Amino acid sequence: MAKLDNKIVLITGSSRGLGSAIARKFTEEGAKIAINYNRDRESAEKLKKELPGSEIFQADVSDHALVKRMIKDIHGKMGTIDILVNNAGILSSFSWDEFDDEKVRKIFDINLMGPIYTVKECVDDLKKNHGIIINMASNAGVGTAAKGTTMYSMTKAAIAMLTKRLAFDLMEWHVRVNAIAPGWIESDMTIGGKSAEEAEKLRQSFRSRTELNMTGKPKNIADAALFLASNESEYMDGQVLVVDGGRIDNLTHSL
Ligand code: NAP
Repeated sequence: MAKLDNKIVLITGSSRGLGSAIARKFTEEGAKIAINYNRDRESAEKLKKELPGSEIFQADVSDHALVKRMIKDIHGKMGTIDILVNNAGILSSFSWDEFDDEKVRKIFDINLMGPIYTVKECVDDLKKNHGIIINMASNAGVGTAAKGTTMYSMTKAAIAMLTKRLAFDLMEWHVRVNAIAPGWIESDMTIGGKSAEEAEKLRQSFRSRTELNMTGKPKNIADAALFLASNESEYMDGQVLVVDGGRIDNLTHSL
């Protein structure tokens, strides 16, 4: 038997990057994926063709009404949700001199309010199904330093606390809640729009900051997500799993 046989899994922001790698990995283990995207319909449709049993659902997770509608649509097309992966997120870097209310609001709305709205709309399913929540934090929220990412880091630190509090809030229903804090992973977020030369420079820079002299691939995060979604992590709850190659600029490596 596969590890996630017939589980209905909502992965927010799974049209590209880490979310799509998790979707592929979970499908290999028998899950049926609700692929959520915001703007990139083409990538979402391509992924749907690749993944048997999957469906696509457009919704901007920072809009509560749209999230509510999406969950209703998932119920109609697929059934109730067993596993929620709160993955959708954006990175925007700016200094205090470049401070702009709109930019700040946007990153908090997507990275923090998005997971909150999604949990709120899925929580009855998860309680009923004794489900699992996996939140995408970041090593930025655990303590690594990169100029211009203060707001992003704050949203991800809040995701770590949301994980701990949700695990506590949902313990009566045996809903396990854990998070992953990835280090530098190759995706559109990190190398999208960069020239080959710029991308290689970034790889070298981040490689040199790890004990393993490595940069991460979306597959590394998908492997960690499968562990947290399966019974292999049955004794884990409220934890943040750091997957970052051993960042030298963050010697605590955990919360
Ligand atoms: P990515 O390549 O930029 O992909 C982002 C995904 O999120 C896309 O599928 C995008 O959908 C979706 N998305 C963005 N805004 C959305 C919204 N408002 N509503 C719904 N979906 C939305 O990013 P990634 O690298 O895969 O990152 C995924 C998660 O991992 C994020 O939470 C990020 O903060 C976290 N993370 C990434 C890294 C890294 O190094 N890559 C490190 C630590 C943590 P569309 O295609 O439709 O826009």
